[in-house]
Amino acid sequence: MKQTRREFLSTTSLATAGVFLTNPLTSSAFHAITNSEDKWYLNMRRCAQHNFNEHDPANLNIEQWVDYWVSLKLDAIILTAGGFIAMYPTKLENHYKSQFLGNRDLFGDYLKALKKKGIRVIARIETNFIHMDIYKNKPEWFEMNKDGTPWRHSETPWIGRSCFFSNYRNEQITKVINEILSLYDVDGFFTNSWPEVEHAPRLCNSTYCKAYKNLTEKELADVAIEHTLTTIKLINETVKKKGSNIVYNVNIAGGIGAIQDLQKVGNLTNWMTTDHQGRGGGTPIWDCAQQGKVAYAVMKGRPVTNVVGTKTGPWRHSSKSEAETILWLAQTTSSGMIPWWVWLGSDLPDNRWQAIGRKYYQWLAKNDIHFTNKKSMSKIGVVFSNNVNALYNAPGRVPGGYWGDPVDTNSKGNTTDYLQGIYYALLEGRFVFDLVHDNDLTSEGLKNYKALILPNIALLSDQQAESLKGFVNNGGSLLATFETGLYNEKGELRNDFALSEIFDIHLKSGYTKPKGQVFYATVETEHEIIKEFKGLEHLPGGEFYIPIEASGKHIMNIKPPYPNGIPEMVYPYSRKELDSQEQDSNNPAIVVREKGDSRLVYFPTDIDKNVWARGSVDLSKIIQNSVRWMTEDKLNISVEGDGYVEVFAWETEAGFAIHILNYNNPNMTRASIRRFYPIGQQKIRVEIPSSITIKKAELLRSEKGLEITQTGSIVEFLIPSIEDFEIAALYK
Ligand SMILES: [Zn+2]
Repeated sequence: MKQTRREFLSTTSLATAGVFLTNPLTSSAFHAITNSEDKWYLNMRRCAQHNFNEHDPANLNIEQWVDYWVSLKLDAIILTAGGFIAMYPTKLENHYKSQFLGNRDLFGDYLKALKKKGIRVIARIETNFIHMDIYKNKPEWFEMNKDGTPWRHSETPWIGRSCFFSNYRNEQITKVINEILSLYDVDGFFTNSWPEVEHAPRLCNSTYCKAYKNLTEKELADVAIEHTLTTIKLINETVKKKGSNIVYNVNIAGGIGAIQDLQKVGNLTNWMTTDHQGRGGGTPIWDCAQQGKVAYAVMKGRPVTNVVGTKTGPWRHSSKSEAETILWLAQTTSSGMIPWWVWLGSDLPDNRWQAIGRKYYQWLAKNDIHFTNKKSMSKIGVVFSNNVNALYNAPGRVPGGYWGDPVDTNSKGNTTDYLQGIYYALLEGRFVFDLVHDNDLTSEGLKNYKALILPNIALLSDQQAESLKGFVNNGGSLLATFETGLYNEKGELRNDFALSEIFDIHLKSGYTKPKGQVFYATVETEHEIIKEFKGLEHLPGGEFYIPIEASGKHIMNIKPPYPNGIPEMVYPYSRKELDSQEQDSNNPAIVVREKGDSRLVYFPTDIDKNVWARGSVDLSKIIQNSVRWMTEDKLNISVEGDGYVEVFAWETEAGFAIHILNYNNPNMTRASIRRFYPIGQQKIRVEIPSSITIKKAELLRSEKGLEITQTGSIVEFLIPSIEDFEIAALYK
């Protein structure tokens, strides 16, 4: 579909943004080129990607597209360059060129046009796929099937895949990068969908992979990360030879489920990208903000871009609903990431995405100083662990149910369900929290937090346990669930909890794995944590628990489990076939301790998983009450009001920014959001250093002034209502 420039302008209503067409140095572009050349990427605020298909060299109109990108006030853009398919006249052997390239240099001409407008250009290199034309010359690069034939893509069988352990990336990709560096004034490189941090490498039948076929899961994971790190270092060195201002932007997209050590990978780069484009099915809306929290834990404020998809579901040439897109962009920017707006191809069969992006980016550009974050203000940290994802066997299903079919005891559960349950409960309780990488369980890594939550962080080293002890001794409060610290860092079962001293708990003898049966927890004594449940005999407990010894009287105990599947069998009394008195008893369901300034809560149950997987409202309430009790309601930020929100609080270049994202929507946990359901008045209280006086405040989204009252270190204000999201910007 070819378009004239006029048609293009009218269909994208770019004409209304004419001011940007006549001024090549937009404020953002100016911003980028006047800053330190060496570290220009530190000042990025807005990015995009134009992803080419092989046919694009035949009809892509560079001028039209540059006009659109300029209207977004971009700092940098990613353009498809080569690796898999060269979009420039490559001279390199075994580097497949677009069959539609002809005499054109699509990448080079596009780059020059963008750079004239002050937009930096990053070359996108696809390293996973190789055209089968190359196979006859370089069979060793290809992933091989068991029968000795090369693996072929199921939809486009003329495409093969590069073998993970082959020398393809080290040998060929570095040559591609060198050629691009020699031809173009490029500002950086990006390797698409690589490294893969979410799953173990595919071991194929190539000579490279065969060498590793007898390794254990753990050994293979170690070899894979070493191989990945070596390749990243090599690419980095290749890129840096041309100039220190050229950057290798590494794709580290695993979210909370990644199995490779994200920090180890992140430490090798100045710029991380999280390819978190959108959601489908039952992925919750907070998925993008959660990825932002992961990225902040990994990069600690260094630049992170998030690829924001314009498309919906698998339809690459479509537009996402406007409401879903806005909330995805807002999560990206509120969580501290830089949006990277992506479209595939030169055709515009559905151009609705263009106006959505332009409006958001232009709004963003007006508010740069409020998105230049210095530090998260959160005092609560929630730990996540790549090591747990890689090595922990989370229990799968419990036996029972109505039909009583036997359960495969080898089936594994999802290691991220525990964190997801905590996440849900904390959002419901309106807590402001960071995610903390388990590598940061050190005194330095924990110094900003008053309370720490360990959602079934089953693997802990002695050193990590020691740091947590130090955290508690210094007055930090701790909440841990289930098998936290029951295994060492290699995944080997310990004789007792690594945190047994902190919580005064011990495993009952003979422990091999958690007990799996639907169970209840009895309400024993009055306590703030269970205040809503006074007068009740019991509440849902969970599906798995750990029998422990813990001194003292407990506020909830595990009721000896009784059958739950067939209705006639569901009673907690002795029966001739089974004496309930002989069943496992005297097990706490929660252990609560106070030591000095520390308040400690341990759940020997999968309470967090059951908030997420089973939707227990009571269990969510217990977690929220626990966190409130631990922090003694002395948190530095509170947001009171109705509705389901996620709150971010940042120290910024201007002062402080409190972001409130409105998730209150029937499509909160199932894609996609159709429209917003505004929430009413929100009452905010923020504690800031008493030496700072807030001089001015405004609401950035509704573009209104904001009246605040400051009494010493406490700043209070009201937001009358929130449509999609709101940001209260406080100027110091
Ligand atoms: Zn292989």
